[in-house]
Amino acid sequence: MHSSLIGKVEKANRYSREPDRVTFESLALTFRGDNDTHRVTLQDGAWDCTCHFFASWHSCVHLLALQKMLGVMLPEDAQIELLPAERSSVAV
Ligand SMILES: [Zn+2]
Repeated sequence: MHSSLIGKVEKANRYSREPDRVTFESLALTFRGDNDTHRVTLQDGAWDCTCHFFASWHSCVHLLALQKMLGVMLPEDAQIELLPAERSSVAV
């Protein structure tokens, strides 16, 4: 009993170092930026943020920061670029 419990804890420790085992299907959170607090959601691979930048660009610094925090735990279709339209127009 005790040794199997230790095994579970060891497995949990190993899993915790393997974030690619986890994929967030949806998210809802509050992001406290330098100037304001924003509400961010992820549903069906689509982001939403209440900041003004997102309203114009469908991308923003909050989503970019979350991608850096969560990395491989975000689904493929939730990976975004900052200013994707501008980047593609200067593609080489
Ligand atoms: Zn934002």
